Parts: sequence; structure tokens; C-alpha cells
Amino acid sequence: MTEPNGKPAVWQGGTVWLTGLPSAGKTTIAKGLAERLRAEGHRVQVLDGDEVRAALSKDLGFSKEDRDTNVRRIGYVARLLASHGVTVLVPVIAPYATSREAVRDQHAAQGVPYLEVHVATPVEICADRDVKSLYAKQAAGEISGLTGTDDPYEVPVAPQLRLHTQDQTVEESVQQVYAVLTERGLS
Ligand code: ADP
Repeated sequence: MTEPNGKPAVWQGGTVWLTGLPSAGKTTIAKGLAERLRAEGHRVQVLDGDEVRAALSKDLGFSKEDRDTNVRRIGYVARLLASHGVTVLVPVIAPYATSREAVRDQHAAQGVPYLEVHVATPVEICADRDVKSLYAKQAAGEISGLTGTDDPYEVPVAPQLRLHTQDQTVEESVQQVYAVLTERGLS
């Protein structure tokens, strides 16, 4: 159901993909938003990157091809859930524009709402937070292929929202995403 301006009158599920560097704040924002939406009675699913990899993508590594395949698989599951009225929050790096666009196109083809949120925390701040000690391990030469350091991250060109978490509290970041959902008919 759409209004004359083309926007949905009511938010009946959809996917919110939070893309950004490791430690940017994707998981924290997704969990905070999920809590708020659930408290309001919405059906919510968070598709956590590590959990989904363990469940669906154990066969995949971190090459460009494998990262793209992982993103497309997650996009497929997200779309299925979202098409049944679930708000699906996806805190997954998704470093390559082509696979993000493929997921967006999949959603559009089925008429399922899709929002891209770029959690645009600068790499220096992410490395400082270093929630999983990945930046320290990369700097020490213990791991390689870390997005944003020695692996590419293609910055989204036209996301629905860009969050500068280094200047915000978690609550403020959550509120910004929530506000976009409200604009799309969440009530
Ligand atoms: P990611 O999922 O992107 O790898 P996490 O959410 O696991 O990152 O970690 C982000 C860290 O940054 C957390 O420790 C969180 O408390 C902190 N942080 C500080 N400010 C914010 C903010 N505005 N939004 C999200 N996280 C923030």
C-alpha cells in the first residue's frame, strides 16, 4: 500500500542493513534498535554477521568472492523474513558496493522495503575501540585481510542514512535509524 508520494503508508517489515568497518558500531546499534522495536510490539530479527557465518557460510572465507557470496546469502534470508512483516536488522560489514546493490535490487524486485545505513565511524576511531582486538592483531601481523586496513571497504555513495557515531551516544545513533523507520511509516 502506497500513498501518492510513493512512500509506504505503513511500515510492514523491511530490511535495514548497517554497513561499516569492524567496531564502527553496527551490532550495538542493531541491538539497541531491536530492543526498542520489540518493546513497541514489532517483530524483529537481527542477523548478526558472526552468527550467520557460523550457521550459513561456514564454507566461506574472506576473499572478495566469499564476502560477496556471504552478503548475498544474508540478503536472501533478510528479504524472505522482511516479506513476512519482520523488521530485519543486518549489522554486517558488506564491504563491496556490487553485492550491497544486488541485495537492494533483490528487495526492490519483490517490493520489500530496504534501507542502507552507513555506520561511518572513521577507521582511527574503530581501531581505537577495537572491540574484537582485530585491529591490534592486524597491526601485529597475526591476521591479514581486515576491512579498512589491508582489505577494501567501498564507501556507500547514497545510503538512506550516514551515522557519525564518534560524535554521538549509542542512544542518539539508534534514534537516528528509528527516525528513518518512522518516516517510512513505522508506528
Ligand atoms: P561492529 O558491530 O560495527 O563491529 P560493535 O557494535 O561491536 O561494532 O562495537 C562498537 C563499539 O563502539 C561498542 O563498544 C559501542 O559501545 C561503542 N560506541 C560508542 N559510541 C557508539 C555509537 N554512537 N553507536 C554505536 N556504538 C558506539
